[in-house]
Amino acid sequence: MSLLVPGILRVPTRGHGDNCFLVTDEDGLTLVDVGWKSAPAAIRQAVEASGRSLADVKRIVITHAHPDHVRGLAELVARTAAEVLVHELDAPWLAAGRVPRAGRSGTFGRTIDRLPLLHWDPVTATRTVADGARIGPLRVIHTPGHSPGHIVLLHEPSRALLVGDAVFNRGGLSSGHDALAADPGVRDASYVRIPRDVAAVGFAHGVPLIGEESAAGLAAWLDR
Ligand SMILES: [Zn+2]
Ligand SMILES: [Zn+2]
Repeated sequence: MSLLVPGILRVPTRGHGDNCFLVTDEDGLTLVDVGWKSAPAAIRQAVEASGRSLADVKRIVITHAHPDHVRGLAELVARTAAEVLVHELDAPWLAAGRVPRAGRSGTFGRTIDRLPLLHWDPVTATRTVADGARIGPLRVIHTPGHSPGHIVLLHEPSRALLVGDAVFNRGGLSSGHDALAADPGVRDASYVRIPRDVAAVGFAHGVPLIGEESAAGLAAWLDR
């Protein structure tokens, strides 16, 4: 794990640059995304290494209901009793345990969604969140397209941005595979909603951008 900015730890959950984030707040920890089935073990280790226990995880915010973000969720909910927050448009997917057919724009996406590996134990959200909602120090920004209820989260004290799968940083910035997105056109139209004046960027997939100058790379890419 490593510090993204004061108040946010980046927790790698898998060897391919997949991350979730632990946000410290006065009343405990907020976890942003979970990861695949093996992620809870990495998350527990990171929580304990920071001098806390899993019981301190009060909230789990899901940027969107895709398997690589939620397969470990049911286990973590059982072990923490944390609240689960997700945008209302992705809540039905979370509760269904898989991405619906209409949730992918391309044949490739719809084909892989048939694999049991991409299904998860259903979870009912404790609370749904909408654009502009506050979750402790985090501000919710609705960025539909990758999924209908995709959100990015702005950590207001530091202006670090957690972008989920709105933007990837695997060997350079990208929007990911169109076939895996619900609607690539809507996704691209959502880029205008992403703040540019940020101090750091945490990606669900890829290495973070740290410092205003490096985060400016996000703005340049969004406005390309
Ligand atoms: Zn995704
Ligand atoms: Zn993802």
